Amino acid sequence: MKNSWSDKKATEFVSQYAAQWGEDLAYRTYSARLLGAEKSLVLHGGGNTSVKSRYTNLLGESLEAIFVKASGYDLSLIEPEGHPALDLEYLKRLGELPELSDEDMVREIRTHLLEDESPTPSIETLVHAFVAEKFMDHTHADAILALTNQPDGQKVVREALGEEVIVLDYVKPGFQLAQATAKAIQAHPGKRAMVWMRHGLLTWGDTAKESYQSTIELVSKAEEYVADKASNPLKVTLSTPPKKAEERWVQVAPLLRGLLAESSEDDQPYRRMIIRPLISKEVLDFVDSDRGRELAVSPPLTSDHLIRTKAFPLWIDSPAYDEPSQLRDQIAGAVQEYRTSYQSYLDRNSAQSETVSSRFDSAPRVILMPGLGAACSGKDVLAANVCRDITAQTLEVKARIGAMGDYEGLSESDCFAMEYHTLQHRKLGASELPLSRQVAVVTGAAGAIGSGLSRVFLEQGCHVAVTDLPSKRLDDLVKELQSRFGERVLGVPLDVTESDSIAQGFASVISVWGGVDLVLVNAGVALVSSLEELDVEDFRKVERVNVEGTLLMLAAAARHFKVQGTGGDVVVISSKNVFAPGAQFGAYSATKAAAHQLARVASLELAQIDVRVNMVSPDAVFSEGERKSGLWAEVGPDRMRSRGLDEKGLEDYYRNRNLLKAKITAEHVAKAALFFCTRQTPTTGATIPVDGGLPDATPR
Ligand SMILES: [Zn+2]
Repeated sequence: MKNSWSDKKATEFVSQYAAQWGEDLAYRTYSARLLGAEKSLVLHGGGNTSVKSRYTNLLGESLEAIFVKASGYDLSLIEPEGHPALDLEYLKRLGELPELSDEDMVREIRTHLLEDESPTPSIETLVHAFVAEKFMDHTHADAILALTNQPDGQKVVREALGEEVIVLDYVKPGFQLAQATAKAIQAHPGKRAMVWMRHGLLTWGDTAKESYQSTIELVSKAEEYVADKASNPLKVTLSTPPKKAEERWVQVAPLLRGLLAESSEDDQPYRRMIIRPLISKEVLDFVDSDRGRELAVSPPLTSDHLIRTKAFPLWIDSPAYDEPSQLRDQIAGAVQEYRTSYQSYLDRNSAQSETVSSRFDSAPRVILMPGLGAACSGKDVLAANVCRDITAQTLEVKARIGAMGDYEGLSESDCFAMEYHTLQHRKLGASELPLSRQVAVVTGAAGAIGSGLSRVFLEQGCHVAVTDLPSKRLDDLVKELQSRFGERVLGVPLDVTESDSIAQGFASVISVWGGVDLVLVNAGVALVSSLEELDVEDFRKVERVNVEGTLLMLAAAARHFKVQGTGGDVVVISSKNVFAPGAQFGAYSATKAAAHQLARVASLELAQIDVRVNMVSPDAVFSEGERKSGLWAEVGPDRMRSRGLDEKGLEDYYRNRNLLKAKITAEHVAKAALFFCTRQTPTTGATIPVDGGLPDATPR
């Protein structure tokens, strides 16, 4: 492993941060970032670092303080605030207690922070506090885990790293680990580091550089040892090309996603998972190898990860990819078996524990399939990404251990203790937005209503595929939304008048998030012409988008929802003109009426698979922020001219014709769609008018 320390860079950190935060925290920030940048040392908020220094309070008194990395913070991006200050003198005295529960420990840590708005420090805070060393670095280095997770691990560590390190058997993180660590260091003075079996590495030093260098040197030694002993690599027996695996993913993911979802209370949406594919040459070689299964279903590398992945993955043997119905039975059977065995794992272990207040769902987080790779799930795309990165690392390290000999991970009771460890649960975060587990497809998203729908659904936590004909307008919208909502936005070029294009679009969404739950049929075009002058070819163009486009989207949604098997919601953006048509507006009014009727028929046909189809009928939405609607392009200038109004005047005209004198916005339309998609009432085949009250357009 490369030593990235630079004295010049370190000095830059000191000049940037020391004046406000002190030199110690400036160095701490620098080397924490170096550790965080190395993915084979720490992943996603893992690992923790500290420095002991002084803190001056308002009375001018200088206190003995420790600065410990905040729980879940990413080391690679850390700022000085990411190491909150604690009263070290007090924390040290906790070491004298015979025992300390997790709850008491968290309270003691939180109540001895020195700043009121500090984030909660790491679960391993007391490890850092009970030891006198100034700088301390704790990582879950891949190469160290490759040494410790073997049947004769302690001996292997000694052989690889020599006498410079202390080796400590696995101890549950928290108070016990802190005491055991302090005791071991006292008993073995003069060492530079400690290896925690099946957990990771702890190094220390008088300076940030010294501790960092110990980490790099020891990990490098471990890497050399592992490479040296790799005499028996896994034998690949299948050799699936990644492209083939990706094709299979589109077929398998919706099935899998449906089976992982849990139905919640009556009217609420399913508790679904976002699933991300982990498909690469390395992962395929692993699942397609002679020892893939044996290594994969063994316990995890370190306890730190298992709240994200659960203790064990689900392995599906010889999947029948060419026989869809057999494949479904196979996956359904395997998921059910996993659920049953997870329940008995909980029953077996929770008998000896008082800490289990609420149980996790029983679905697997990681599913491994020969010929496909891994499916990694989470409550949203970020959680699924964390699960995926940890799985990639786990498989890689297990393959390296397999090449050396046998693998031995944590015991079941250690896994359980960590999975149901109160402190770990905090990392997962409790609150969820109403649509955070859902995936929506919005058609005609580049227009005013479409972009409003996309934005409002994203604000509710939804993953949104923003679709429209390929255009700069679409690209700009995707960029704008991604800058705010990150990976929950996907731009998908899609033509609603072509069934191939729709199928391609669904496949693109499935390849990223595993499925689709909400379909917002919004794409539409308008045309101003009297019937007398209406060109039939022009009429057909409007008909293709408004009627055939709706039909094809409803059909694609129905096919997908059937495979996924967890219901779904469709909202068709209808129009006030369905109920109160406008003169010069025949093509639009008639085709929208046909689309509306198709949606009602869909509500009849799809209720049996728990798919609800509802409509929203707005009047005159011309813009969403700067974004003008297609309706505006078609109708606005003409209406302005014929009535002798400017843009503002036209808005006022439409506002004044409704009962509430309301200006209708895209956000209003989106909120009506949101009402349906959050399933607040058992409603299908219904229409919400969003028009400020137009008596002649009231649905009847
Ligand atoms: Zn750890």
